[in-house]
Amino acid sequence: MLAASAAALARLAAVARAEAARLRERLRHEIDAGSARLGGARGERADATAERDAVADACGVALVLLGPDLVVTSANPLAEALLPAGQAGLVGHSLLLSTLSDELGALAREALDSGEPRDAEVRLPGPSGRLLAISARPLPASGAGPARLALVARDWTDRRHMERVRRDFVANVSHELRTPLASIRATAETLRDGAVDDPAVSQRFLDTIVTETERLARISANLLVLADAESRAREPADVDLTRLLGQTVERFRGPAAKAGVALTCEATGSLVAHAHAEQLEQAFANLVDNAITYTPAGGSVRVSGEAGPDGPVVRVADTGIGMMRDQLPRIFERFYRVDRARSRKSGGTGLGLAIVKHIVESHGGAVSVESELGRGSTFTLCLPAAHGPAAARQPDAPDTRPR
Ligand code: ADP
Repeated sequence: MLAASAAALARLAAVARAEAARLRERLRHEIDAGSARLGGARGERADATAERDAVADACGVALVLLGPDLVVTSANPLAEALLPAGQAGLVGHSLLLSTLSDELGALAREALDSGEPRDAEVRLPGPSGRLLAISARPLPASGAGPARLALVARDWTDRRHMERVRRDFVANVSHELRTPLASIRATAETLRDGAVDDPAVSQRFLDTIVTETERLARISANLLVLADAESRAREPADVDLTRLLGQTVERFRGPAAKAGVALTCEATGSLVAHAHAEQLEQAFANLVDNAITYTPAGGSVRVSGEAGPDGPVVRVADTGIGMMRDQLPRIFERFYRVDRARSRKSGGTGLGLAIVKHIVESHGGAVSVESELGRGSTFTLCLPAAHGPAAARQPDAPDTRPR
């Protein structure tokens, strides 16, 4: 009897052990499945965040998410590039301490506290001085979670700068047109009021009207050249600079002789640039015209071209009046003249060098100037090299041809 009970107990214990083992196994399976599901959800969330950041980057907007304490919880790569942050990046740090912008901090705080969207333009402190268009959008709290804020920032530095340049340009154009127009009007009124009957006076006044009208025509022609250079309607091609420089110099032989200025041209080897021939000719012409204009009789102007390390280099050097060092940074601005009266007397419009700069830079080149008062000036144009077979063509032998 006792033996039978012991056997029954042993069987029961074995069943219990087997059941416990089965339960343990099931529990392990369920834990494994649970953590796999959790890992998957985490992975999906990371994928969604990466996709959201990629979309924001592609749209050119910086996207920053902030917690209630204005600590950054997420930032796309563009935000990291646009907003100043330390080595450790934006995430995990206070927006205010990262950007040091009270304005941005106040805007974010206001939007978060009020629960209302806020928009503003904010200029960042520090050397970048970027102007950002900021949209601060409070996000609905999820469940019992804290309120959060999305900041979207666009870089408007260039846009606002361009708007100001355009406004200044229109103001300058109207000012430049007003002067000759006022002169024409005053002269015509004087003629109408009786001066027309005095042949000597009327001749002088008619000359003034013709001169001022020519001035207006030059300004409008230069404005058209500038607009044409900006339109970039035509495709660039390989341009033979040696020929182009020669042609330009030939055009100015007459004016140079009349001014008593010796004009020479030297081009070395095969010089080919990838450019718009007409625009380059315009740029060369403006420089040669200036060099002759600002060089007194007895002086000289030398035009030269040679192969540089990155492409052809063209120089227009004169022995003329030169300029002071502090004037040089401004001479490429539209309508800037060192000596307004002198430029006006010689028929200048103040647009010549602005046109040169625009043409050269729109070709990917650069223009620079060296000048010394009373000794002369040298303008240097670095131009893009040719692309096609012409680019590979090496100069056979140095070809220095004075013209
Ligand atoms: P402008 O029509 O008055 O010549 P530009 O834009 O061509 O206008 O030149 C701007 C100013 O730069 C000129 O008014 C002149 O004062 C100065 N400048 C340009 N080229 C020379 C030069 N070769 N020598 C001395 N001054 C120059």
